[in-house]
Amino acid sequence: MALRKGARAGGGEIYEQTQANAVEQMPSGEWNVKTNKGDITCEHVVCATGNYARETGRMFGLNVPAIPVEHQYIVYDKDPELQKYRNGGGHEPAVLRESDASYYLREERMGWILGPYERGAPARFADGVPGWFGKSLFDSDLDRLLPHVEAAMKRVPALEHCGIKAIVNGPISYTPGGSPLVGPAWGVKNVWLNEGHSFGVTAAGGAGWQLANWIADGEPTVDMLGVDPRRYGAYTSKRFVSAKNEEACREVFTVHFPDEERHDGRPVKTSPVYEKLKNMGAVFGARYGCERANLVRSHRRRTERQVEFPALELFRACRQRVPQHAREGRHDRPDAVHQTRGQGPGCRGLAGLPGGQQGADQDRPDCVVPCVDEKRRCAPRTNRAAQSGSSRTMRELDDAR
Ligand SMILES: Cc1cc2nc3c(=O)[nH]c(=O)nc-3n(C[C@H](O)[C@H](O)[C@H](O)COP(=O)(O)OP(=O)(O)OC[C@H]3O[C@@H](n4cnc5c(N)ncnc54)[C@H](O)[C@@H]3O)c2cc1C
Repeated sequence: MALRKGARAGGGEIYEQTQANAVEQMPSGEWNVKTNKGDITCEHVVCATGNYARETGRMFGLNVPAIPVEHQYIVYDKDPELQKYRNGGGHEPAVLRESDASYYLREERMGWILGPYERGAPARFADGVPGWFGKSLFDSDLDRLLPHVEAAMKRVPALEHCGIKAIVNGPISYTPGGSPLVGPAWGVKNVWLNEGHSFGVTAAGGAGWQLANWIADGEPTVDMLGVDPRRYGAYTSKRFVSAKNEEACREVFTVHFPDEERHDGRPVKTSPVYEKLKNMGAVFGARYGCERANLVRSHRRRTERQVEFPALELFRACRQRVPQHAREGRHDRPDAVHQTRGQGPGCRGLAGLPGGQQGADQDRPDCVVPCVDEKRRCAPRTNRAAQSGSSRTMRELDDAR
């Protein structure tokens, strides 16, 4: 409502219940938007149509890689314990976000709302939202919800005694990487996208503000590269976008790392030397749909299972260039990023506990845990490969080279 009020105050006009059905570009370059209530002529068009991004994009000949994915949330009945706490003057609890179990929990009318980011939530409407769907919802899927509900009951035991009022399952627009599409469309002049917003109201003000700057002044005032719609291209087939968007939804609450590479829907575009590089032990990353060798593993590592944690793989490959003081984990150098076997002051082990050995996996002397000096207070990077048993020490890796 505030945005709407602001728009009107700034001279904007709002036409409600008005559906854009087609567009045509006039000789002047302006756009004529045909709606169910007549034509609107404008210099610029912004598509901000949520789950309908595929349809509105198609009007401009655009294949917009925003396809909705099912998202459920549970509305609980009033919680007597919460009521007691609130009636006694307690503040509204902060939104609880449990990343490991992939859900958020917040207060709603003296009860709770639990919203998980589920594994296996399917992409819907890759061809566009059918006319009959309107503002409908999907049937709920309890099997998908159960692991999150159980985890939440452990964290907030009061939930065990709360009845469920409703389960809502609706479509949220996603993009292959999970970030929205905010900026100029490709190949058509003065057409802008503000689509693929899976995070709701959070992005509305900022996205609108930067897009307005971009349209009016020719550029945004902050770096918008990460959400520029032109980061995608013709390679975004329905199959690819559906797979990637499901992955993006599933990965919302996981811990992300620099240079993270996600695997679903790949490979899309391979070069003639792809197989050859693969046989050489190449570990690939994807850029604009193209598979690109990020590094080539040494001979002995090639037989091991596919790397799950590319950043760690990169650490290993680069380790030979890490200065000696960092390798040795010297704490007179607070900037030293070093590998540890769970020894030394300030090191955090697999369990994320401070105190060197205490936190490391005692049964696995070969566990390699990347860690930073305690002074830097960085969280540990959990080594999935180490947990699964495929890890080797840095020395072994060096020997293998
Ligand atoms: C089950 C569920 C729970 C959610 N929970 C939350 C939450 O708790 N908090 C939160 O912030 N977000 C939540 N979201 C996400 C939030 O709803 C979306 O991220 C947000 O609505 C996206 O905003 P939008 O403006 O991009 O798209 P929308 O809100 O979908 O708006 C797009 C508008 O464009 C209109 N439109 C489409 N095509 C045309 C056309 N051809 N002509 C004219 N108009 C057109 C549509 O009618 C619609 O009004 C939830 C979503 C779901 C499905």
